[in-house]
Amino acid sequence: MRFDFSAVLLEDNDYPIDSGQCFRANTTRISAAVIAVVLLLGAFVNFRNGHAAMGVVAIWVATVCGYAAWLLAKDRSAMKTVRFILVPTLFIGIGFAFHVHGVLAAFWLYPVITFFYLLLALRQAVVTNAIFMGAVAFVFFGDVDFQVFIRIIAAMVVMNLFVASFIAIIEKQQEQLKGAAITDALTGLLNRMTLSQSLDDSVQQNHRSQIPMTILAVDLDHFKKINDEHGHDGGDRVLRNFAELLKKRFRCTDKIFRNGGEEFLVLLFDTGRSGAVAIAENLLKDLHSYPGLITTASIGVAEYTKGEQRDDWIKRADDRLYEAKRTGRNRVVS
Ligand code: GH3
Ligand code: MG
Ligand code: MG
Repeated sequence: MRFDFSAVLLEDNDYPIDSGQCFRANTTRISAAVIAVVLLLGAFVNFRNGHAAMGVVAIWVATVCGYAAWLLAKDRSAMKTVRFILVPTLFIGIGFAFHVHGVLAAFWLYPVITFFYLLLALRQAVVTNAIFMGAVAFVFFGDVDFQVFIRIIAAMVVMNLFVASFIAIIEKQQEQLKGAAITDALTGLLNRMTLSQSLDDSVQQNHRSQIPMTILAVDLDHFKKINDEHGHDGGDRVLRNFAELLKKRFRCTDKIFRNGGEEFLVLLFDTGRSGAVAIAENLLKDLHSYPGLITTASIGVAEYTKGEQRDDWIKRADDRLYEAKRTGRNRVVS
C-alpha cells in the first residue's frame, strides 16, 4: 500500500478558476468585437450620409470596443480596465447618436442594455441600466410621440427583466457546477482537484506570515476487507461516516480532502507538529467509538518546514503514513 499523491501533483492547471469571471470575459470579448465591426460599418454609412461627426464618434467607439476585445483576448483578468473604458464610451456614443439621429438611435438601446449585463456584475448592471433608462426617458420624454415613448421604455424594461433573469440563472448554475467540480460527491469533502492549489496557497501564506501548517495524511485500515464483508454500499457508508467525523473534529479554517478511495488529507492551519499529533491521536480514539465506523486508520503527520517544496511536504506525510502502516496500522507517525 502506498499513498498515491503523484496524480494530485500534476493537477495544478486543472484547478477550477473563477468560471463566472471567464464567462463574462468571453462573452464581453465576443460582443465587443461584434460591436466594433458593426460600428465601423455604421461609421461608413454615417460618412456617406453626411453625418461626419457621428462617423468619427462611431469609429472612436468601435476602436475602444476593438481594443477591449483585444485586451480580453490577451488576458481574461482585464475586465476591470475593460469596464472602466467601455461603460463611459458606450454612454457617450449612444448619447451622441440620440443627438444626431433622435429616436432612430433607440434601436441601439437594446444591444447596449444586454451588453451591460455581460460586461458588469449583475447588481452593477441593474444599477447602470436603471441610470441608462432614466437618461433615455429624460431625453425622449416630450420629444417623441407618447405612444412611441411608452413602447421604447416598456421594451427596455422587459429586455432588462429577461436578460437579468437569464444571467442570474446562469450564474447560479455556474456556482453549482463550481461547487460540484471541487467537491467529492460521496462525502461532500473537497476533492483532489483543489488540493495542490490549497497547499500552494498555504506555502505562500507561511512564507508571508510564518503561521505553522501541518498535513495529516489519513488512510483507513484494511478497507478492502470492509468492502468484502459488507459490500460496496457498506464501504461507502463507512466512508461517509468517516467524512462526517472529520467535519465534526476539524475547525472550519482547516481543509479536508478526500484524495480518492479511503485516503484523506487534512490541512491544519495555525497548528504545528505536536498539536497536529494530539489532534490525530484524538481522531483515532474517536474513530473507535464513532457509530458506523468499523475500522481503524493510520495517519502520517508533516509540519511544513520553511523553504520546503509542496511536493516534498506531501511526500514526508506520505512516507510517515507508510511507516504507520508498516509498523502495525491504527497509529500516528510524525
Ligand atoms: P491498508 O490497510 O493497507 O490501507 O489496506 P486497504 O485494504 O485499506 O487498502 P487497499 O488499497 O488495499 O484497498 C482500498 C480499497 O478501497 C480497494 C477499493 O476497492 C476500495 N475503494 C476505493 N474507493 C472506494 C469507494 O469509493 N467506495 C468503496 N466502498 N470502496 C472503495
Ligand atoms: Mg487503506
Ligand atoms: Mg489506500
